[in-house]
Amino acid sequence: MHEAGIAQSLLAIISEEAARQNARPISAKISCGTLSGVNDEALRFAAEAIAKDTPCEGIKLEIEHKPLQAQCRDCNITFDVELSQPRCSACGGENFKLLPDAGLILEEVEFQTD
Ligand SMILES: [Zn+2]
Repeated sequence: MHEAGIAQSLLAIISEEAARQNARPISAKISCGTLSGVNDEALRFAAEAIAKDTPCEGIKLEIEHKPLQAQCRDCNITFDVELSQPRCSACGGENFKLLPDAGLILEEVEFQTD
């Protein structure tokens, strides 16, 4: 399962940071691209299972999906692509190139020191 692998690497990074700070991670903010196909629920479920009996147990995940962006070849602006209707937001044209989808990023982790 895709999400289990993601959850595992995220929690590994978080655990390492927690050990370094000698603190307990309580929440983490993650962002990912539109095309990564990350399912929030599956990721939360996997993280919960993996975090059980580790310092990450009970961690709350906030998952943000970044819109896919494209650059218009006519007016040169960058805009968020509406997947149901991909058009330039300025000229309404379809002469654009898609920009690389955002990767999965661990944006921030909130720690609590006991
Ligand atoms: Zn345009």
